[in-house]
Amino acid sequence: MISANARPYIDASVPVLREYGVAISTCFYARLFEAHPELKNIFNMANQKNGSQQQALASALFAYAANIDNADALTPVISRIVQKHVSLGIRAEHYPIVGHHLLAAIGEVLGKSATPELIAAWAEAYDALASAFIGEEKKLYASHQIEPGQLREMVVTHKKKESQTVTSFYLESVDGLPLPAFQPGQYISIARNVVALNLRQLRQYSLSGAPDQPYWRISVKREDKDEQGNPAGMVSNLLHAEANVGDKLWVSPPCGDFVMDKNIRTPLVLISAGVGITPMMSMLHGSLQQTPARHVHFLYATLDGHHHPLKAELAALSAFQKLPEQAAILTTHFAYATPTAEDRAANDFDQSGYLELDKLDSSLLPKNGDYYLCGPSVFMRIQRQALLDRGIAANQIRQEIFGPALLENLQ
Ligand code: FAD
Repeated sequence: MISANARPYIDASVPVLREYGVAISTCFYARLFEAHPELKNIFNMANQKNGSQQQALASALFAYAANIDNADALTPVISRIVQKHVSLGIRAEHYPIVGHHLLAAIGEVLGKSATPELIAAWAEAYDALASAFIGEEKKLYASHQIEPGQLREMVVTHKKKESQTVTSFYLESVDGLPLPAFQPGQYISIARNVVALNLRQLRQYSLSGAPDQPYWRISVKREDKDEQGNPAGMVSNLLHAEANVGDKLWVSPPCGDFVMDKNIRTPLVLISAGVGITPMMSMLHGSLQQTPARHVHFLYATLDGHHHPLKAELAALSAFQKLPEQAAILTTHFAYATPTAEDRAANDFDQSGYLELDKLDSSLLPKNGDYYLCGPSVFMRIQRQALLDRGIAANQIRQEIFGPALLENLQ
């Protein structure tokens, strides 16, 4: 809650942020890293280079200003960011540094329009938000029984190629102690030194295995150099090339709020594309174990069978669910954009082309379903809209984005 004095200035900032938000966030990061180069070890420097972090911060500032008194809209967004911050090891002392450079960036970009009253209003709004983050992050660190930034050393006990581009890593604790429980859908951050940049970088990977195992499994897509000439992904390539059985990795506790609501018993509908299959596999295992009578619809889109990770594992779960004595709990639907001749011969996918939800039978997309989406942002935008068009309510749909979140559903 901000004061009545500050309120009109924040309201007046909404259209300004729409126009200058990216300029402000770009200026902010440049100032921040100039003054505090050590923070490059916490921030994702590839997202700085490709511009997605600047876009995400601009959209967050806009959403904050536009919803400044709308706690119902802001609370879930704050809770999601808190989870990410804890996986990155953000500490309370980072907030004044960020606040200082953010206000300076607003001043620099808006020039004379950044009156003392406007800057004071933003200082107040930032402090209110920072206090909320610090309080929630403190609670979450305490619940994990770790100090901010503390990572766990784990050993790679198994490495398995799952598809042309995805490899799974099985991680166990080095001290042999049992791992803390996680909820299917959560992720861990992996820290890796990138020698070329002389930086440590953290990347998030969803846990892709069942929740009751003595190991944590992540399944990592190797991000190759693309046709536009963008460089190969740093951490995914390092993991594929250098993380072998016996090697140690530093990882965060499991974080994230993209988890199944345990109180809902209506059909679970998991819709994913590409490497977005990872949290869905964990949710599928979790659901079959914890609520074995609950129906699950698993819809998955990928290029072809060579790009279908964890396919055999899914087939085994499916086959088990089809045993005569079992009720048909699991239904799958695979869309291959460009199936190969081998795929056609095997006949183990359901449709060629893109996954188009408006063309699917309503038995796969029940009205009362509990929906989870994960995949590239364009994929999720299209599928979310298609679900809304089919009469599925917005509060029945949850989504996870594998990158900085643009808060488009909040505006
Ligand atoms: P980066 O080095 O971070 O590069 C990312 C992109 O930026 C690349 O496309 C690269 O070409 C581009 N880029 C880099 N530099 C430039 C430049 N100078 N100009 C233009 N473009 C540039 N991934 C998985 O594989 N499996 C998962 O289960 C998974 N779960 C996730 C869960 C969450 C909650 C989140 C947020 C992400 C998840 N990710 C997952 C994605 C993962 O965290 C990484 O983003 C991914 O592995 C790429 O990291 P990287 O270091 O290899 O690539």
